[in-house]
Amino acid sequence: MVRIEGLRKCYGALEVLKDITLDVMRGEKISIIGPSGSGKTTLLRCINWIEKPSGGHVYIDGNLIGEKLVGGRHVAMDDRELARLRVGTGMVFQRFNLFPHLTALQNITIGPRKVLKMPATEAEAGAMTLLDKVGLTAKRDAYPEMLSGGQQQRVAIARALAMRPKVMLFDEATSALDPELIGEVLAVMRQLAGEGMTMIIVTHEMKFAEEISDRVIFMDHGVVVEQGKPEQLFRSPAQQRTQTFLRAVLGRQAYQ
Ligand code: ADP
Ligand code: MG
Repeated sequence: MVRIEGLRKCYGALEVLKDITLDVMRGEKISIIGPSGSGKTTLLRCINWIEKPSGGHVYIDGNLIGEKLVGGRHVAMDDRELARLRVGTGMVFQRFNLFPHLTALQNITIGPRKVLKMPATEAEAGAMTLLDKVGLTAKRDAYPEMLSGGQQQRVAIARALAMRPKVMLFDEATSALDPELIGEVLAVMRQLAGEGMTMIIVTHEMKFAEEISDRVIFMDHGVVVEQGKPEQLFRSPAQQRTQTFLRAVLGRQAYQ
C-alpha cells in the first residue's frame, strides 16, 4: 500500500532522513518509535508530500506521489494532481488542527465538499456515520473550543476518514492529551485497526504499539535502526541503541 524508496530529507546541511526504504502492506499496522528529533514527523510528512523529499520516491497503492515519470525521468507534479493523490493518505496530528470557526460536523464535511465535490447531503450523511463511529453523535454542532482534547482528536480522526484514505498516518495523536483522555482516542484507533485500515503510527504509547502493530520500527538520527515484530523488538531488541531507548522510555512509563 505504501512504498518508500531511498527517501532523503535535508534542511540545509542537516540530513534529517537518510535513505529510508520501507514497504507497508495493505492492512498492515506499523508503529514508529524513536527519540525526539529522530525524523519520525518528517518521515510522515514526506509520505504525503506535505514536505518535499530531497531524494527518493513514495508510492501509495502503486501511484507515485509528488512526481510523475516523463520519458523515464521524474518530474514534479502540479499542485492539483498532488492534492488529488494526497487524498489517499489521512493524517492525524498531535495538535488536532480543527477549524475553530466550524462545528464538529462542518469540520468533517468541508474536505469531502471542497475537495471531493460531494453534495452537502451526502457529505453530512457520511459525517454523521463517522461521528457515530468515534462516539460523538451528540457533539455534531459543537465548536472545537467546547470539546475536550480527546473529543477534538476523535473529530480529527473522523475528518481524516471522511476523505476515504487508503492509509492513515498518526503523528503522536495522544501526546497532547491529558492522561485520562488518551484511552478514548486509542480505542478509536484500535477499532480502525480492527476494520483493516492500513496505519502508520508514530507513538510513545509502547503498550499500545505492542498490542496493535504488525511491525514496529525504531528510528534514530534519520535511519531505521531496527524493525521487527512487536514482541521481538520490545522483548529482545538486537541493537544497542534500541535497547538504550526502550530502557529509558519503558522505565519511565512503568511509573505512570
Ligand atoms: P521527530 O518527529 O522524530 O521528533 P522531526 O522529524 O520533527 O523528529 O525532526 C527531525 C529533525 O529535523 C530535528 O533535528 C528537527 O529539528 C529538524 N527539523 C524538522 N523540521 C524542520 C524544519 N522545517 N527546518 C529545519 N529543521 C527541521
Ligand atoms: Mg515528531
